[in-house]
Amino acid sequence: MSRVIEHLAEITGFRDRDVLDVTLVGALRDLLLPASVAIYRILGEAPQQRWMTRARLLPGDVAATADPLWADPESLPLADSVPDRYACLRRQEVFTVPGSPAMAYFPLTSDNEAVGVLEIATAAPMEPADVRLVGSILRIYRNFQGLLDYSERDTLTGLLNRKTFDDSFLRIAAGPQIDAEDLAKPGLRRPSPQDTAWLGVIDIDHFKHVNDTFGHLMGDEVLLLLSRLMRGSFRFQDRLYRFGGEEFVVLMRCGGVDDALAAVERLRANVERYPFPQVGHITVSVGLTALRPGDSPASAFDRADKAVYYAKQHGRNQVRHHATLVSEGHLVDESRTSDIELF
Ligand code: GH3
Ligand code: MG
Ligand code: MG
Repeated sequence: MSRVIEHLAEITGFRDRDVLDVTLVGALRDLLLPASVAIYRILGEAPQQRWMTRARLLPGDVAATADPLWADPESLPLADSVPDRYACLRRQEVFTVPGSPAMAYFPLTSDNEAVGVLEIATAAPMEPADVRLVGSILRIYRNFQGLLDYSERDTLTGLLNRKTFDDSFLRIAAGPQIDAEDLAKPGLRRPSPQDTAWLGVIDIDHFKHVNDTFGHLMGDEVLLLLSRLMRGSFRFQDRLYRFGGEEFVVLMRCGGVDDALAAVERLRANVERYPFPQVGHITVSVGLTALRPGDSPASAFDRADKAVYYAKQHGRNQVRHHATLVSEGHLVDESRTSDIELF
């Protein structure tokens, strides 16, 4: 019993989802001594849903293995390629399969939505008491995730809040990064699909008019629907924020400028064509910039924000790329100017 409590203390000791999954599989391995224990997350929309390994431990492993956060979704296994695991996810019920090894599948949910599966392989079928123990630990895990959501997410839209931006910015910037603004130059290698990190700032056009005409409650409804359009337009791994008011941010990794522009352009077009109940049609202006080595969250945000401002001044309902505006002479790149002035 005390070992279980020690593990629970460890699981709830970090405020970081990646660490949480790793400590959960570590605790279950120590408590059950299984052949393997793993957490898989489901990504994308059916029928193209795929499994991402969040944490997997075999008996002798020193550290859990996981798919990289920026794994190309196409490289991950399709959901129905693992039928029992997929059945557990869809039915949202605990599911055991005898055999060698015996398998036990536990659905992972968030807001009553199936988000993944905990999978445990054992030499002999798990005892009912152990199945109950795992169920109880998962309830604590879910409650703790609910608390993390409460502190990290915006209450209206469920998107990440501004407080968590700096942290993920540093994590995303820490991945492989070539200076994407230079990619167009001849002689540089082609980037791999997740080579560059991007920041987009999305601001609703004439949102004050929506509030003034339809009231603040309808305004809030528009913000909520826009957050859903964002979730549908970007990929699972992309970090989506409500920065405040009617301003949203996306942090993502892409192959290069064309992919990044295509992603934000997809959102712009989805918003333009979406019939918002009562309000009708609204549009957004988007500013995009690549993260640069040595960037701070504030300096990258500032570039994207300048591109939004330019979009607002030039007709709204458009995506503007900061580096293109600079190269065309419409904006001055203040950070690079100051570099030059230094020397
Ligand atoms: P622009 O196209 O230049 O962006 O015009 P705009 O009207 O969208 O921009 P402005 O910044 O003048 O107004 C933003 C409005 O957003 C003002 C404020 O009342 C509204 N707003 C900010 N936060 C919320 C919110 O949480 N809910 C609602 N309903 N409205 C909000
Ligand atoms: Mg604004
Ligand atoms: Mg606005």
